[in-house]
Amino acid sequence: MYLAVEGTVSVPDNIVNAMHRGLEIVGGAATPVILSDDFVSTVQRLSTSTQSYAAERGTGMVAAKTITDHEPTTIVVNFKAIHDRQAQDIERLLAHEGCHSLIDGKGESISPKQFYDNYDTGLAMLCTSASIALEEFRIERHLAELGYPVAERAAVDQIDDQILELVGEVVWASMNPASADVLTYAKAVIEAMHSLSVTLGYLAGPIIAGTHIFDPTQFSEFGHAHWMSMVQRGWDMRQVAYRQVPAIQSPYAPELIFNHVDLAVSANRQFLRDLGFAIDGGAPGADWSFHRIVSNAVVDAQFKSVLAEAERRSK
Ligand SMILES: [Zn+2]
Repeated sequence: MYLAVEGTVSVPDNIVNAMHRGLEIVGGAATPVILSDDFVSTVQRLSTSTQSYAAERGTGMVAAKTITDHEPTTIVVNFKAIHDRQAQDIERLLAHEGCHSLIDGKGESISPKQFYDNYDTGLAMLCTSASIALEEFRIERHLAELGYPVAERAAVDQIDDQILELVGEVVWASMNPASADVLTYAKAVIEAMHSLSVTLGYLAGPIIAGTHIFDPTQFSEFGHAHWMSMVQRGWDMRQVAYRQVPAIQSPYAPELIFNHVDLAVSANRQFLRDLGFAIDGGAPGADWSFHRIVSNAVVDAQFKSVLAEAERRSK
C-alpha cells in the first residue's frame, strides 16, 4: 500500500494494517492512499471538481473519498473520522473505496459531467443521483459477497432517521421563501432525495447478494408509514434495475450502464412523485419543469407529523 500521511498524524500500526487488508481484498493495493487530518483541504487540492466540498453529510462526517479526477486515482481518508473506529470498520471502508478506484480503472465510473453536457439540469440531477447510487450498489453487493456486514448507513435505525430527515427537508424546501426560485426548490428536494437514494444503493447490495434480509416493519411507526407511501414503489423499481448490473469483476459496457442508469432514473422519478414532486421533460435540448403535485394541506400535515415525530424522538 502506498500510504502518505498529511498533518500531525501519528498512525497506529493496527490502522495501517486494517487499511492495507481492505485494499488488498478487493485487489486495490496499487491505489495510493492519503491519510489526512485536514480532509477537506486535501480533497480540494487533489480534485478539480470539488472546490466547494464539505465533509459533513447529514448525520455524520465523510470518512473517505476516492478522487478519480486526479492522476493517479487516490483515496483520501479522513483521520478525524476514523481514528477512533474499530479496525474492521476501517478495513471495510478501504475495501469500499478500493472498489471505487477499481471501477474507475476499468473506465466504468460515470462522471456527472457526461450528464450536464448532454441534458438539461432537472434530468441531469436525476441521472447523477441515479448513477452514484448504482455504483454504490455495485460495490456493496461485492462487499456483501466478500462477507462484510451491512454498511452502517443502511442499518434499520439509520434509515429510520434518514426518512425523518428526508421528509423534514422536503417540507422545509416547500416552506422556504427561497424556493420561489424553481431551481433552488428542485435542488433542495432532489438533494434530500439523493441522500436516501444512495443509502438505498448501499442497502440493495447485500439484499441482492442474498446475505441480508430487510424488513421495513422494523422501522418506527413514522418510518414505516413513510417508507410505504414514499419509498416502496421506487425501491421495487430500483431493485429491478440493480439486478441486471454485472458484478464488479465483470465488464460493464457503456450502453448497458446508460440503460441501467435510465431504469434507475425512472425509479428516482417515482420516488420523487411519491415525495410529492414531478420533473417533466428534460430530454436533451428540451425545456424541463419541476413542480409540486401535492396540495398545501398535505405539506401542512407533513410539517405537523415531522414536528411530532422529532419531538417524540428527542425524549
Ligand atoms: Zn462509495
